[in-house]
Amino acid sequence: MNIQMVDTITQYQKVQSEIDQSVLEVIRSGAYINGPIVKQFQKNLAAFLDVPHVIPCANGTDALQVAMMALDLQPGDEVITPTFTYIATVEVIALLKLRPVFVEVNPDTFNMDVSAIEAAITPRTKVILPVHLYGQSADMAPILEIARRHGLHVIEDTAQAIGADYIFPDGSRQKAGTIGDIGATSFYPSKNLGAFGDGGALFSRNPELAEKLWIICNHGARVKYYHESIGVNSRLDSVQAAILDVKLRHLQTYSDARREAARRYDSLLAGLEGVVTPVWHDNGTHVFHQYTLRITGGRELRDTLQRELAAKGVPSMIYYPVPTHLQKGYEAYGYQAGDFPVSERLCEEVLSLPMHSELDEAQQVYIVTHLREIIQRLIVNA
Ligand SMILES: *Cc1c(COP(=O)(O)O)cnc(C)c1O
Repeated sequence: MNIQMVDTITQYQKVQSEIDQSVLEVIRSGAYINGPIVKQFQKNLAAFLDVPHVIPCANGTDALQVAMMALDLQPGDEVITPTFTYIATVEVIALLKLRPVFVEVNPDTFNMDVSAIEAAITPRTKVILPVHLYGQSADMAPILEIARRHGLHVIEDTAQAIGADYIFPDGSRQKAGTIGDIGATSFYPSKNLGAFGDGGALFSRNPELAEKLWIICNHGARVKYYHESIGVNSRLDSVQAAILDVKLRHLQTYSDARREAARRYDSLLAGLEGVVTPVWHDNGTHVFHQYTLRITGGRELRDTLQRELAAKGVPSMIYYPVPTHLQKGYEAYGYQAGDFPVSERLCEEVLSLPMHSELDEAQQVYIVTHLREIIQRLIVNA
């Protein structure tokens, strides 16, 4: 059985004629940068997410950097963010000479522990940066409330959660990434809305901020060759926009397929000792960028399980093996082992199984049959 973590080829084949035609039109038009298709995708994505402003850019890391550049922060200003995340979130904070201030995550949702935010606030805090990890929104209502009370900005890293809803306590819904001052996403090929190369976008409800974001992405120029701020070159290629515009029409179907696959995993894995399946929090809709288990036996058992699964042709991934506060490149911030025990423990326990829109029941039965056999044997022998 041929099983992959992410099956972009099969997904492409199902909409091949639409994508091929859309790409060919761009190639024949000659409008390779900022062509009309970029504007069309931008409009369609804004409608899908129900957000007034979408600014396409070159990748998700740029989106995060541009978001922070638009807030006029000073060197040494502090950004509160979870330590259990992908490095891009923290990298751009460091690159801009800001200071990452880490907080713990919840062991059930893997998202920012909102009860830890206030203790991390200092007079230099300017931004709270939640990450909607694995496809599920962080708990935005308390984050917004804390931000309002302390006069802080909120930037959402929604690279893994495009299309996910957050449900407020009053029952109203907004898409993850469109709730704070600015949202940043990625169209990296393995993301839920993936290009055939790099891509990213910024979201905002604030017209002045949206204009700033747009200008920064275009070398700080509103009018060509007149640079009113320091900017970057961060554009979405027309070819990528053409691919993304087609895939966007199917994004709802892709998200539904991921949820269905997650439900199947849940029932196939039910009652298995030593394995904790993902929590579906009722404050949102999960889009399962990853289906991530906790292997409670810890690192050695988890790593052996991963190796033995691989030997059966079942790929799996560890997102992430090291929390950001313990990464070598970030030693200068002075964090130590033991500072964030939940995140550190999660790095020893997490194991993401194959998850994509094309995963079928036969593949999942194969995966879980082997996983059950291996882990039961490992636990008995432990
Ligand atoms: C993928 C990802 C990014 C970066 O996106 P790129 O397009 O690869 O630059 C940032 N944050 C998170 C949480 C991600 O998963």
